[in-house]
Amino acid sequence: MPTSLRPTTAPNPAGAPYVAPIREVAPGSPAARAGVAAGWSLVSVNGAWVSDILAYRRELGRGEASLVACDPEGERSVRFEVAWEDPGLEFDDVIFDGLRLCANKCEFCYVHQMPKGFRKSLYVMDDDFRTSFLYGSFVTLTNLTDADVARILDEHLSPLYVSVHSADDELRGDMLKWWRLKVRDPRATRIRDMLERLEPIDLYTQVVAQPGRNDGAALDGTIEYLVSRPNVQAVAVVPVGLTEHRRNLPEMRGYRPEEAAAVIDQVERWQARLLAERGSRMVFLADEFYLVAGRPLPPAESYEGFAMLENGVGMVRDFLGEGLAGFALPARVTPARRVLCVSGTLFAPQLRAALAPLAAIDGLTLEVRALVNRTFGAVTTVTGLLAGRDVLTQVRPGEADLLLLSPSMLKYGTETLLDDRTLDDLRRELGMAVAVGGQDLRELAQSIIEGTPASSLPQFGYSTHAVKEAAGQH
Ligand code: SF4
Repeated sequence: MPTSLRPTTAPNPAGAPYVAPIREVAPGSPAARAGVAAGWSLVSVNGAWVSDILAYRRELGRGEASLVACDPEGERSVRFEVAWEDPGLEFDDVIFDGLRLCANKCEFCYVHQMPKGFRKSLYVMDDDFRTSFLYGSFVTLTNLTDADVARILDEHLSPLYVSVHSADDELRGDMLKWWRLKVRDPRATRIRDMLERLEPIDLYTQVVAQPGRNDGAALDGTIEYLVSRPNVQAVAVVPVGLTEHRRNLPEMRGYRPEEAAAVIDQVERWQARLLAERGSRMVFLADEFYLVAGRPLPPAESYEGFAMLENGVGMVRDFLGEGLAGFALPARVTPARRVLCVSGTLFAPQLRAALAPLAAIDGLTLEVRALVNRTFGAVTTVTGLLAGRDVLTQVRPGEADLLLLSPSMLKYGTETLLDDRTLDDLRRELGMAVAVGGQDLRELAQSIIEGTPASSLPQFGYSTHAVKEAAGQH
């Protein structure tokens, strides 16, 4: 039994290359009965170090398991056994041996376009197939080794979410610009080869489209290849996201309305063909194309279950639903109140139009305000990348009785905005009630009418992969 172990991710005297810090121990569980407490670390299961939660679950899945945990000082350790029962451990994180970082240097990488001063986790360039499986974050697969591929297949880590961008290796290489020294197996950079090796694994893929680079004929080629693969479940086409913080990065621009319209026409042709041939559209467009082109959003059924919602594909339609038709509106609200809803500049016109029926309610003064993103620059128009400072600089203290924010502005399960300001900070500085408006249009309308906001926190939003996900690219 090890006697001197340190709960750190660095090698320790017992030789463990990493340990798993324990956040919580369930009362009465096998771990609690063995004397393990929060703050301890899991060292090994069945005599082996565990690299992540998947490896931990795999070992427990064998039925009988022998676990070793050590105290925070690394001075005391205990071994305990379980047989087909949960040891009762909750961990600080799901990856114990450190996130796999990306081996690329994409010119459109959001991490490189971030202003300084945000919390460190927002600058982490993870490209870890395990978080892709666990959370649906997109990975490029360029950092995989043979052993990783074998593990994905052995443990059937399906589905995975893959950033393809182009099925042409030369073009993809030009966009991803992988570092030769960081790529551990050059074979991993060959996207067709990799997707074919992963054939038993379901793949949700994405193409971050850049005007004039990987759209047009190149996009046709990419779609044609991807839809020919039996394991590709869907292809999301999302426009490149840019900020004004691009010092030392090549010039790049976003889609103009006529270019966005051309991408819509192109992808809708594919959708019609695939729907007729296979009964599924398979290729889906980010909302941003429709908003930039000024085209109406497709109906909900055309998103076929919204499988890539968090990538900005169908998020607006999902939120708006079929609007407020049939929604019972009161003739008046008492007491009279002023409600302010804030949104990014891209979505604000849609939201304003959707909430227009509420203008008839006596006693209600409602404004939907488009906030210019001063954190990332006005070129960043999505709501999910607005920070607390953007609200504070564009809302005057006391100008409303209730300020409602989009859930996409908050970190998952918290009241924290992108720049670490909280809803309480906004309440204090603005001297008004501040809350999340609701997960959909009807919930938002209810919050406005009742003046008591929905208590639900965001179901999703930014995370440690935050900015890449909020920007819908990786
Ligand atoms: S966009 Fe993703 S893959 Fe590209 S450099 Fe950034 S983190 Fe790496």
